[in-house]
Amino acid sequence: MFSLKKSILVSNVLDPLTRDPIDLKMVYERLFKENRYESIETRLIKNQQLIKCFNKLRTARTSVTYYITGDLTRNNLSLSTVNCKNRIKAIDYCKESLKDAQKTNCNYMGIASGRIEENALLNLDLFVDSMNEIMHWIEKKGLGIKLAIEPLDQYAHKKNVVGSLDMTCRLINKLENLGWNENHYILTWDSAHVALNEDDFETSIKSLSKYIYKVHFANAVLDKSDDLYGDYHIDFKKGFMDLKCARRILQVCKKYINHPIEVSCEVREKNIDHCWGLEEELYEFLNEAMNI
Ligand SMILES: [Zn+2]
Repeated sequence: MFSLKKSILVSNVLDPLTRDPIDLKMVYERLFKENRYESIETRLIKNQQLIKCFNKLRTARTSVTYYITGDLTRNNLSLSTVNCKNRIKAIDYCKESLKDAQKTNCNYMGIASGRIEENALLNLDLFVDSMNEIMHWIEKKGLGIKLAIEPLDQYAHKKNVVGSLDMTCRLINKLENLGWNENHYILTWDSAHVALNEDDFETSIKSLSKYIYKVHFANAVLDKSDDLYGDYHIDFKKGFMDLKCARRILQVCKKYINHPIEVSCEVREKNIDHCWGLEEELYEFLNEAMNI
């Protein structure tokens, strides 16, 4: 049955507080004490002390998602590159991250496909190969973690293989042919990426409904002549995202989706003193947006 779960993107909203393990410990203590969210999305927790602390705090109702998209990019690794050595390294990096993720019983591991090289369809096939190998490995190890694929923008900024609605549908078809479905991986539907790809929201949600388990309200400036054009995780002042837009997205989700979805706001805070201020604002935004 369709339902909405509030989620927080810790690594964006509280970003300045995620650098120091002591700050991060306080972040998790506060989040679990206030108990406002049923889902936490963040970077992979690797610090031993933090793992212990997180496991102590965590409640059964909280779903946990780690994104390693940024880590892969920073390490110059791609799951879809024609450079065979690099792709194998990327797969190994994912496996190591999954082992770490299991220490805090994470539910989803978020990845992206990597940048388009010369031939996007070849890159797509290689990404399917990578996912296939990783998901087989997850099954073999009995980790019970699902991959969360976030289609990024294909043309505007990060130029990822997956991608537009067309490329995302191709990915799903290829994976279905290999026997993989929503029991093994899900999609994170991000409004900024969909808008930058110039895909229609309703068509996108309708086509991907079986796989959308996460929604990010993310904003972007869509005017190509503007310096801010692209995927910059900006606040909701300039750009297309507002309460009306967020509500419309959830109404469309309600129309086509038959399972619970986790919903969060993707805004990157830079000022360490305003992190909790932003969290409050976005919590209110989520509350109002969910009132559909
Ligand atoms: Zn996102």
